[in-house]
Amino acid sequence: MISVVGSVNVDLAVRVPHLPRPGETVQGEDAQVGLGGKGANQAVAAARLGADVGLVAAVGVDAFGRLALEQLAREGVRTARVKQSPRPTGLALIGVDASGQNSILVSPGANADLEPEDLDEAALAGSPWVAVQLEIPRPTWRRALAAAREAGCRVALNASPVAPGLDLPDLEGADWLIVNEVEAAQLLRVEPTPDPRRALEYARRLTGCVANAVVTLGEQGAVFAGAAGEGHAAGRPVRAVDTTGAGDTFSGALVVALSEGASAAEAVGFANAAAALATTRTGAAAAMPRRAELEGHWP
Ligand code: ADP
Repeated sequence: MISVVGSVNVDLAVRVPHLPRPGETVQGEDAQVGLGGKGANQAVAAARLGADVGLVAAVGVDAFGRLALEQLAREGVRTARVKQSPRPTGLALIGVDASGQNSILVSPGANADLEPEDLDEAALAGSPWVAVQLEIPRPTWRRALAAAREAGCRVALNASPVAPGLDLPDLEGADWLIVNEVEAAQLLRVEPTPDPRRALEYARRLTGCVANAVVTLGEQGAVFAGAAGEGHAAGRPVRAVDTTGAGDTFSGALVVALSEGASAAEAVGFANAAAALATTRTGAAAAMPRRAELEGHWP
């Protein structure tokens, strides 16, 4: 089993002619209601690719919490360790304008209630691989890293979002660090670069405190460096229509391949292919590919 420790949100997205300025009301199209949050997204990505996935998370005792649990169950994600909090379910209010630009309001709600105590021994039992992201309280993700190490699990850490003041040593203990080019630059206190050769240099520098690092580069694919080797998986030429959830698809797919024994190059290539496919359809979880669509990429 793969355990995912992270956030669950319900996303409410509305397409509008333009994004509202302060004080302005803008009429939009019908709302789209979907499962979101990096924890839920990565859990769904991994489950769709055939993994047995358990999610450690928190939702509210409200309609959105029920919706999230139902959707996760429908995707085959185990939810026994999703606790119910007295706070409202995490919510993302997303406006998308005619050019595809978005503005997002996030209320973490119940995600802020996921506590270090929720990462007891039983939480990660039977999971050789654990996927963690940073949309939960810092003490909780720090505990997830420590608990995984104590239990002998390997950890794939998607260091997103990067909060101000976050330092590389905070991420110590991860076997794989996954960041996009902006997050890599934030962690290294340098300028972001879309150039794969420079990004590979960044990936090397990120491996000070983690064994392996991947820097995703959007349409340019991803570079990786570390104990398991280094290289560049070139971007797949696709007609991208919506990149929401591409990063989460990448992280989920990477863990699936690694948990199946793929080499670094194979796992990054598989994740790259899965994430590229996800950009060809709209939505986050809804756009994530199933295993059969990735035949030939791994094994
Ligand atoms: P994030 O969504 O976190 O900002 P990226 O934009 O780097 O991350 O995208 C993550 C991954 O999704 C990339 O490494 C790549 O595999 C895939 N991807 C994203 N955009 C495209 C695109 N336009 N064409 C092909 N693949 C893409």
